[in-house]
Amino acid sequence: MSAKVIDGKAEAERLRGAVAEEVARLKADHGFVPGLAVVLVGEDPASKVYVSSKAKQTVEVGMTSYEHKLPADTPEADVLALVERLNQDPGVDGILVQLPLPKHIDSTKVLETIAPDKDVDGFHVVNVGKLSTGQWSLVPCTPYGSMMLLRSTLGKLSGLEAVVVGRSNIVGKPMAQLLLKANCTVTVAHSRTKDLPAVCRRADIVVAAVGIPELVKGDWIKPGATVIDVGINRVPAPEKGEGKTKLVGDVDYASAAKVAGAITPVPGGVGPMTIATLLGNTLIAACRRRGLTPPT
Ligand code: NDP
Repeated sequence: MSAKVIDGKAEAERLRGAVAEEVARLKADHGFVPGLAVVLVGEDPASKVYVSSKAKQTVEVGMTSYEHKLPADTPEADVLALVERLNQDPGVDGILVQLPLPKHIDSTKVLETIAPDKDVDGFHVVNVGKLSTGQWSLVPCTPYGSMMLLRSTLGKLSGLEAVVVGRSNIVGKPMAQLLLKANCTVTVAHSRTKDLPAVCRRADIVVAAVGIPELVKGDWIKPGATVIDVGINRVPAPEKGEGKTKLVGDVDYASAAKVAGAITPVPGGVGPMTIATLLGNTLIAACRRRGLTPPT
């Protein structure tokens, strides 16, 4: 058996297309264009790449992109003051502060300063609390994108057994909440979990968000299960030449694809969904802030 490959690139393109159509409609019918502000502090190379692709895709769907690039030694008070200004700016519907922040800046303090209705990353405690109490909230982009892939692959998720490996605030925990909301029976595994292979083996859905290259093996997967690999790990690729690298997930794709019913590849699975859902969240935030019904 060979698993169906879940095409995150195609799904992300579809979502961006839907967002672009809605942005055009808002402009024509209501005379405004949603705006997304991204704040980058410092020179982290991966963060710089993420921020520029976020800005590019924001413009491509017809929204306004505001980029704020600050030097690595910017005092915390200045970052907080910028966030406050963006909170007040009527043209800004979504605010994203790129993590990680330099060590002298308290990221929790910065994230908690973002107005919850502009918190398109869904990390503010108000949005986290609303999600965990079953209220409507802005939802963190990566788990949101993973849920879209699960729904397009499986349709209804109700009653399925889901195992989320990883309990971070940005992926594992919100993913577990979303699966719970979709009426799955959810287990959250982590570094202290005993017999992780056996825990994974009972799952209809495995979501791996660990940060360890190819940790989850094929013989941990129940035949026919759906595997969502959130991991993005750069590893040496001597087969491509000296000093070359490649991206792999937290799942050993080669062995898992032989057992799973469906699986996301890395790259091309969850990764492309993250920016597309960020744009979706910005659109939703823009509509809700103006009392308009957001698209579903
Ligand atoms: P964190 O480092 O914040 O969390 C990792 C989690 O994995 C922790 O809960 C940790 O457990 C758990 N863990 C560590 N080792 C093991 C182990 N041996 N067995 C079981 N669980 C273990 O990572 P993130 O959640 O931020 O990211 C996870 C992965 O997802 C990374 O590869 C990251 O690059 C990727 N990612 C991808 C995104 C995308 O857009 N596709 C977006 C965000 C992240 P404990 O809590 O006990 O320490």
